Amino acid sequence: MKTAFLTGVTGQDGAYLAKFLLEKGYRVVGLVPRRSTVDRWRLEYLGIADEVEYKDGDILDLASLTRALKTTKPDEVYHLAAQSFVGSSWEQPILTAQSTGMGVLHVLEAIRETNPAIKMYQASSSELYGLIQEPQQSEQTPFYPRSPYAVSKLFGYWMTKNYRESFQMYSCNGILFNHESPLRGLEFVTRKVTHAVARIVANKQKELRLGNIQAKRDWGFAGDFVEAMWLMLQQEKPDDYVIATGKTSTVEDMCKIAFDYVGLNYQDYLVIDPDLYRPAEVDVLLGNPEKAKRKLGWAPKTKLAELIHMMVEADLQRVAKA
Ligand code: GDP
Repeated sequence: MKTAFLTGVTGQDGAYLAKFLLEKGYRVVGLVPRRSTVDRWRLEYLGIADEVEYKDGDILDLASLTRALKTTKPDEVYHLAAQSFVGSSWEQPILTAQSTGMGVLHVLEAIRETNPAIKMYQASSSELYGLIQEPQQSEQTPFYPRSPYAVSKLFGYWMTKNYRESFQMYSCNGILFNHESPLRGLEFVTRKVTHAVARIVANKQKELRLGNIQAKRDWGFAGDFVEAMWLMLQQEKPDDYVIATGKTSTVEDMCKIAFDYVGLNYQDYLVIDPDLYRPAEVDVLLGNPEKAKRKLGWAPKTKLAELIHMMVEADLQRVAKA
């Protein structure tokens, strides 16, 4: 039986990946920080909260990380923990750099110290492309980060590559484009919209305030994307891969899909709030998942409309229960 060690196990991707790995017969161990009460609602939602083992520790505390790896003895480490919301990274740039940037180096160092043969997945991000240098972004496209979050991810990307080249470690970057689900946090635009739709239907909310609705994203389903993380660690050689759907839509298009699903017109509820605009915007992202298709045999399964419908459905049920 293989053992996987996950940081960020209580987050969206951690929960889907833990479920995927448990189904593959893995022992799944999650690192859990004890700074505040740990919310396991996502693991409970997927019915796996009791099947995951938990270790106390924090990616900001190298000693705790090293100790957790020594006692867990994993075959694979999936590093998903980070301050992951772009918007907050302007409010807390230093914490973001420590968690989203330095956290990666702590994980790499802990692996190097305990057992450099452990395979490592780094959650890199399409936000690295920022001010895009090519209309469709692949592994070859130069990066141009546009937020403290993205600059921190850039550090993590290069450290992951550098440890591979310096110490022959099996460390991979998954450059994942936006990936959403009913388990997405409410701060992200897709979930903010689907949650608002459910509350408007239930008469608990009258309007939806958004910032830049012309921003375009390549949105996929998190449940599809976690399989690619695992596939990256099952290859002969470590490498970096773009994971995306290859389609892009505006925030406005996504809103329309969500409101149409419940028979409402989004224009009757949408209010543009200039305070929600970002200091520097990533206007458009569109990934090219060709290499992942060719080398990993991976392809996205869920279309944007299916994804948004799934999210609205889940929010309608939650709001009805609340
Ligand atoms: P990101 O791509 O990781 O930043 O994912 P988000 O879901 O946070 O944002 C996606 C896009 O939606 C960005 O271009 C935002 O500027 C835009 N957007 C417009 N209104 C909002 C809003 O109210 N909340 C968020 N989170 N994003 C918004």
